[in-house]
Amino acid sequence: MSVPSLNFYNDCTLCPRFCGVPRTMGVKGFCRETSDLRIASAGLHFGEEPPITASGGSGTIFITGCSLRCAFCQNYQISQKEMGSPVSIEEFARICLVLQDAGAENINIVTGSHAVPSIALGLENAKKKGLIIPVCWNSSAYETVETLSMLDGLVDLWLPDLKTLNPIISEAVFKAEDYPKYAKKAVRWMADNKILSFTQKKDKEGNLIDKMLSGTVVRHLILPGRLDDTVLVLDWFKKHLDGKAYLSLMTQYTPVPSPDELYTKTEQCERCTSLSSFQNRLLNETEFSSIISLINSYEFEQVFYQELTSDTDWLPDFNAVQPFSNALAKPVWHWKNGFLS
Ligand code: SF4
Repeated sequence: MSVPSLNFYNDCTLCPRFCGVPRTMGVKGFCRETSDLRIASAGLHFGEEPPITASGGSGTIFITGCSLRCAFCQNYQISQKEMGSPVSIEEFARICLVLQDAGAENINIVTGSHAVPSIALGLENAKKKGLIIPVCWNSSAYETVETLSMLDGLVDLWLPDLKTLNPIISEAVFKAEDYPKYAKKAVRWMADNKILSFTQKKDKEGNLIDKMLSGTVVRHLILPGRLDDTVLVLDWFKKHLDGKAYLSLMTQYTPVPSPDELYTKTEQCERCTSLSSFQNRLLNETEFSSIISLINSYEFEQVFYQELTSDTDWLPDFNAVQPFSNALAKPVWHWKNGFLS
């Protein structure tokens, strides 16, 4: 097990990009972040899987930067365009505690793979100061087991997004041909790290609902026109993880805008090339029916799936204090304002 230390940012090899750059000297690697821990937004989120949202909402903390940088990322403002503000380890811990006080069912750390040492230290600090709710690690799965092991004992729920097992697609969309190799190892490590456990609680109407306390939920975002890739993921999940982890199929793929003022010409060209490796549109009814048939044919022990979406509700704007629709989130911290009350 690696012990968290900010020294890991020297000659950084935290993720499978292995950039080897001195982030402590202000140099940025592929993730576009120095050793500063930066956050864009934190708040209660009501759009996660039902046992993760439960009744109080998931306490999401959106970390700035990303080591994968998908061409279709809905959070591109923070994953690729560096929107966010630095926080100290103590402020990160305070954000966790404010989310807990606001009624969060868990702390849900979104895309923090490039900032594991700081987040681990922040969680240790928060736990010393009274953080008792479960902690979720919500990541791209492009992670090494060595780095993940810094979170051993600090994270209860693993939420990896297993994006593809096709190296041609991962090279085209993330410039990471080795994504399948690392993601498979990371996800299996997560499923072995925590067993599935639940409790029951009452929602606001007094109905009993399940709340997940520990374990792994493997997410998979279905790419329009690439159901063959989804089949690869389902085959692998059935063989290695069914019964040990939950599967969550996401149908929310939404074409994201590509504003000229945010991207250089080269970046725009790269994005167009990446997005041409599948069909950059919403999923259609025919694909959705095929997905339902597929789910039934595998007879998974437990699977979640989203209903088909036909709007852009999922697209956040992190320039706004409320990045999501009011029904979906209740912010408590924003990168421009800090704590909101
Ligand atoms: S965390 Fe960032 S700098 Fe470190 S290896 Fe990954 S992409 Fe490179």
